[in-house]
Amino acid sequence: MADDLSPKNRIRIEVDRGLCIGSGDCVDSAPEVFELDAEDKARVIDPDGAPTDEVVEAAGNCPVTAIFVFGEAGELYP
Ligand code: SF4
Repeated sequence: MADDLSPKNRIRIEVDRGLCIGSGDCVDSAPEVFELDAEDKARVIDPDGAPTDEVVEAAGNCPVTAIFVFGEAGELYP
């Protein structure tokens, strides 16, 4: 049982800061889930801030595939 999954969506989101180029697409797609930090890198503010399919869609909008989404059954994206 993975205890690091979010309470509602039951997902975990990871942003690879080394890959992130700060384009902000994820923030535009799901502003309740992602924000840009002081270094212009995306970070997760709330994995339950949007429905899972919107989180996955936001991950898909990342131009450098820096967002990884995991669910109870494993990797949801990519
Ligand atoms: S869409 Fe990708 S590259 Fe752009 S800010 Fe988000 S994680 Fe970074």
